[in-house]
Amino acid sequence: MSTLSFDDLSLPDALLHAIFDMGYDQPTPIQAGAIPPLLEGRDIVGIAQTGTGKTAAFGLPLLTHVDPQSRHVQALVLAPTRELAIQSAKAMGTFAAHCPGISIVTVYGGASYVPQLRALKDGAQIVVGTPGRIIDLIEKGALNLTQLRMLVLDEADEMLRMGFADDVETIAATAPEPGERITALFSATMPPAIERVAREHLIDPVDISVAPQASTAENLEQTYAIVPFKHKLGALSRVLWTRTEDAAIVFVRTRADADEVSADLTQRGFKAAGISGDVSQSERERIVSRLRDGSLDVLVATDVAARGLDVERLGLVINFDVPREAEAYVHRVGRTGRAGREGRALTFFTPRERSRLRAIERLIDMPLVEVAIPTPREVSEFQARRLLTTLPERIKSGRLELYFELLAEMSDTTGIHIEDVAAALLAQAVGDRGPDSYHDQRGTGRVRREETVDDNGVFVSASFEEGRDAKKRKSRRGGARPVSSGFSRRYRIEVGHRDGVKPGAIVGAITGEGGVTGSDLGKIDIFPNFSLVELSGELSDQAAGRIGRATIGGRRLRIREDTGPSRDHRAGKRRARSY
Ligand code: AMP
Repeated sequence: MSTLSFDDLSLPDALLHAIFDMGYDQPTPIQAGAIPPLLEGRDIVGIAQTGTGKTAAFGLPLLTHVDPQSRHVQALVLAPTRELAIQSAKAMGTFAAHCPGISIVTVYGGASYVPQLRALKDGAQIVVGTPGRIIDLIEKGALNLTQLRMLVLDEADEMLRMGFADDVETIAATAPEPGERITALFSATMPPAIERVAREHLIDPVDISVAPQASTAENLEQTYAIVPFKHKLGALSRVLWTRTEDAAIVFVRTRADADEVSADLTQRGFKAAGISGDVSQSERERIVSRLRDGSLDVLVATDVAARGLDVERLGLVINFDVPREAEAYVHRVGRTGRAGREGRALTFFTPRERSRLRAIERLIDMPLVEVAIPTPREVSEFQARRLLTTLPERIKSGRLELYFELLAEMSDTTGIHIEDVAAALLAQAVGDRGPDSYHDQRGTGRVRREETVDDNGVFVSASFEEGRDAKKRKSRRGGARPVSSGFSRRYRIEVGHRDGVKPGAIVGAITGEGGVTGSDLGKIDIFPNFSLVELSGELSDQAAGRIGRATIGGRRLRIREDTGPSRDHRAGKRRARSY
């Protein structure tokens, strides 16, 4: 470990002040390597992953080179995803906390042009964004890079992988020539295509390579399971039902996955929430405090969103999606087993992803232990055992006469054995309604599952299968169908596929606006022009009014009780995706 301090790096006082505020003690290796040459005006190539401190490695020199008096765009950070752009801009805003006159604008597709155009017009000096939107703004004449002093290509390998190579060329061509500007290129890997970009756009760069943090905590049990894609959600819930850890973090790849998986878990009765890189700092803090105080047990997160999380209750990390880079695995599992605490990590690999397993094992230099996903029977057993351990206490506290009487009466009138009654009560308490039912009650809420056991003993959740794999599968339901047992009402809302609606958004609107809990929500069928939602009870007029005013994709939900299938629905012409 280097003993270099930030004070040795010739950074301006305003930045040292911000570094102090953030509590950074020492520069990370990428910072120690990149900051001095960038301050001198050299180009650099940094081989470094997310989590190494690379944002400050380029952000601090970038802020040093920007003149707050000038209202031209002086620095551009290109990022492959909007999530990363938002995250980097946010970090740079924090570094610039004591730099008056500095303005940073984040630009990415899918967001309104208006605030981006206004910020540029008002003289933002630093632009952080994704290539497509940057080109749009250049073409609109709103973004001029002729005064650029520093260009950062962040996650360059990811940008090429996502097909932004030409866009990067186009953007660089409107900036001053290499040599007339400082260029920093960061990439997790160095394939030949990136070497080519570096040769073309950088002059005599300083190479800084940071060894990935390859060791994982020793007190961390690292396991994996092979789970077919379509069984992942069912497997996830069974792992979570049988966890012994207080709280868990579930890693997914995209923001949409975070929404979808957290909505599914909420419906299954977990105290779950999703978090992705673009949540506000205050929302993030709220989620972290809910995790700490136990009002949240499962956090579904993207890599970016989970950076820096350190919550003691998090004893279990589940990689629902395998991380893209083996190195990210180390960062993900680092969310648990911290500071000597015990932790467990479980990574789902689909059968096709076995090669990724080897890559991770090579990096951490140890094998992961294969484990089986708990079967439904094991879930019931786990929960029943847990319940049984609480009973001696309950027996000790007394006042059971009423129940003795009821049991005796039942036994007398029906001849049913008390042991059978006890077994049935236990089964019911853990949500096991017997082989013919498909609704499951697990104390905290109704578990919305239609499940069968396949040939491999793997539990299959039909509702989830259709949700995750909707493109490949048609709905099994063409015509009218009864409301699933346990749900008494079906409501129709006037948004459907044409509005790009996702089940998570419907769950969010109904639970958020209507005061309905996730466990009161049953099946959601999304049709092209409308959707059907099952609820366990009637919605009050006020709740329906509030939900009806909510919009998805610009269209009001206008919820009302479903009056039955229309002709084309009955004829099976409309295809729904069910969730
Ligand atoms: P990055 O790789 O830039 O995304 O940074 C990863 C995380 O490390 C962020 O949460 C940073 O705030 C944090 N970080 C960056 N540099 C340092 C440092 N020198 N000391 C402590 N934490 C840091």
